Amino acid sequence: MAGLRHELLRWYDQAARDLPWRRTRDPYAIWVSEVMLQQTRVETVIPYYERFLKRFPTPATLAAADEDAVLSHWSGLGYYRRARLLHAGVREVVERYGGRVPESAEDRRALPGVGRYTAGAIGSIAFDKPEPVVDGNVTRVLARLFGIDTPVGTAATTQRLWDEAARLVPGERPGALNQALMELGATVCTAQSPRCGACPVAADCVAHRRGVVDALPVARARKAPGAIALVAVVATSGKGRHRSVWLVRSEARLFGGLWGVPMVQRNGCGGDARAALREAGISARLAPEPAARVEHVLTHRRLRLEVFRATAARAEESDTRRCFTDAALEEVGVSTLTRRLLAAASPSRYTA
Ligand code: SF4
Repeated sequence: MAGLRHELLRWYDQAARDLPWRRTRDPYAIWVSEVMLQQTRVETVIPYYERFLKRFPTPATLAAADEDAVLSHWSGLGYYRRARLLHAGVREVVERYGGRVPESAEDRRALPGVGRYTAGAIGSIAFDKPEPVVDGNVTRVLARLFGIDTPVGTAATTQRLWDEAARLVPGERPGALNQALMELGATVCTAQSPRCGACPVAADCVAHRRGVVDALPVARARKAPGAIALVAVVATSGKGRHRSVWLVRSEARLFGGLWGVPMVQRNGCGGDARAALREAGISARLAPEPAARVEHVLTHRRLRLEVFRATAARAEESDTRRCFTDAALEEVGVSTLTRRLLAAASPSRYTA
């Protein structure tokens, strides 16, 4: 292990990309970056990370913000539940720990939204603790390095990966060691075309030695994402410059907590668009035919939507139903799908 650690750290020191969250040891900033990086590419995250920390530079500023402000700074990154959990976790840090992210791993892992991975990343990078991390990149590196050929995602494989990561991390600079594993997975030991010739640990790599690099890690058989048919209604009030659009939000919706256009699952018997308006508590003049059809792919679902326009909309505003001018729309968090639906109904007014 000592030789492996040494090679990984040596390589990391000269090959690591200069990323904004690598210039800080602030546990809060590292926490924000790790949550944003879950499921999202580094290049996409950088501007979001910088904007988010400019607006919410400390746990106290984030804790004091309302959810709409937080979601509007997350808008476009997807996986909005992450933002809401981060917000909840940071509020707890402010309430229980005076705004200081706890050094104790146990306390960190008890925070909302902080799982083993995020706790380990904060612990090792910010506090120099020998806490392991296993994410997608680390899984690929460790599976190949140690020749782990059982399917990823099973309890036994997960245990083995965490055990190997925990064996590697103790020693000098545990945070750099963890980041070296992640960086190696992101830039050298990639899913397609890994560059074993440029790899600092090729001499110790079981998969490389056995010529089975492309076969590892072993994926668990997955079901193809199912398609869901939906009807969405873009309901507007007023005309021209004074036009505004009605949005609703509820925890149960696909994008829980975000404002979105009224939407229901299609049942194929007609009247669905009217049902979407009824459910939203909006009365409006509904167009007889859809204005557009939109297909939208989420990680586990494929959505097929018919988009209807409705005009002269009337309703009472409430916590879950509001009429937004264009300017007000810019201030709240809406999903990429909502932007697409607004643009599909009114291409001259909204952009996706
Ligand atoms: S030798 Fe190849 S397969 Fe092994 S860790 Fe390095 S890049 Fe990955």
